[in-house]
Amino acid sequence: MHTSKTKIITPDEELSILLIEDDPLYQQLFLRYLNKDHQRKYDITMASDGAEGLAFQDSRPMDCLLVDYSLPDQKGTQLIADLTKKLGDEMPPCIILTAGGGEEAAADALRAGASDFLSKRHISTESLSRSIVNAVEKSRLNASVRKHTKALESANDSLKLRNEEIQRFYQNVSHEVKTPLAAAREFVSIVLDGISGPVTTDQQEMLIHAIDSCDQIADHFNDLIEMTRLEAGKLTLQPKIASLSAVATRCFAATKAAIQAKNISFKSDFDDSIPLMVFDRNRMVQVFANILGNAIKYTPENGTVRFSIINYTESKSVEIAISDTGCGIAEAHLTHIFERLYQVEDAHADFTGAGLGLGLSIAKEIVVLHGGDIWAESKIGQGTTFYVRLPIEPCNSMETT
Ligand code: ADP
Repeated sequence: MHTSKTKIITPDEELSILLIEDDPLYQQLFLRYLNKDHQRKYDITMASDGAEGLAFQDSRPMDCLLVDYSLPDQKGTQLIADLTKKLGDEMPPCIILTAGGGEEAAADALRAGASDFLSKRHISTESLSRSIVNAVEKSRLNASVRKHTKALESANDSLKLRNEEIQRFYQNVSHEVKTPLAAAREFVSIVLDGISGPVTTDQQEMLIHAIDSCDQIADHFNDLIEMTRLEAGKLTLQPKIASLSAVATRCFAATKAAIQAKNISFKSDFDDSIPLMVFDRNRMVQVFANILGNAIKYTPENGTVRFSIINYTESKSVEIAISDTGCGIAEAHLTHIFERLYQVEDAHADFTGAGLGLGLSIAKEIVVLHGGDIWAESKIGQGTTFYVRLPIEPCNSMETT
């Protein structure tokens, strides 16, 4: 670590050092070395055994401890281990000093939690000072990382709580709105079916609009709930063996009315060899319904929508392509449309029934959860093609739907 730039220790700061060393000669030697350092001032306290050293540290926390490996009352490494247990995060950095050095003592020192290991016989003012400054800086950096991590953890906890609150709020609002909405939709369709008396063609049209609007509101709420689920990481898959073409056909049935209403020419084309695959059927319906729904929504009357599934046996994947002859999406927007709440403003000018800008982000999460990929290619004024690439997983011993 390059320490001088970080300025964790200010140049005129005096570092408090506790030297725990029983040999008076070495005590004097270390004192001399430290006092000879013209770059830094040290406030040095001396203890001649572990017990005395602990008492000093108790009375005044030090910046760094220099601890002899063999103290008269205990091993220096033991003292460090005990002190670390007692002080936890408040433990100052320790440097172990040995008379002879040796790899075993070094390993012992580092295992006990010492920041460094110095041989008393090969010491100099520079090496001692460098070791102390490094140890103090490392220890202060660690303390600062710990502090920031704690702050981040607590911010994360409160965000999680907020997220759960928002999720509950959406769920409650959704329930409060969707229940009376379903009742309203039901009454409208009773009137539309002529059960309560004859309805004129004009009235029928208005009632159909009313039902569409009810469905749109319900869809928006479903999207909001899905989004909160995604954010809470609660969107899970229930993969089973299923047929992709059957899922696609189910989606076509649901969009038939919208396709007819705009006189759109709809073409589908499936490779014969598409195998059964492992995926979450309902989630995949959601993906296709969204892309297909958009294709119909953003294509003018008399346009064309195509749905194809190609089996790429070599890469063990299938590719679903849904293309339209709609308004298209400008290059600048193309990379953003899978982001949450992203909408292309211009696109909405001519096409009614725009959503919340959540559909594609939810679709992407679902595809990615399946290990697949989703992207789009488009030309303004000519149309858009959405591609979904899904891996074909081996589907032995799985449940079938
Ligand atoms: P929304 O519910 O607003 O349609 P989506 O996430 O499904 O949200 O789509 C995001 C945006 O991408 C839309 O607002 C629209 O501008 C654009 N978009 C999606 N599909 C098409 C398409 N087939 N043709 C043109 N624009 C599209």
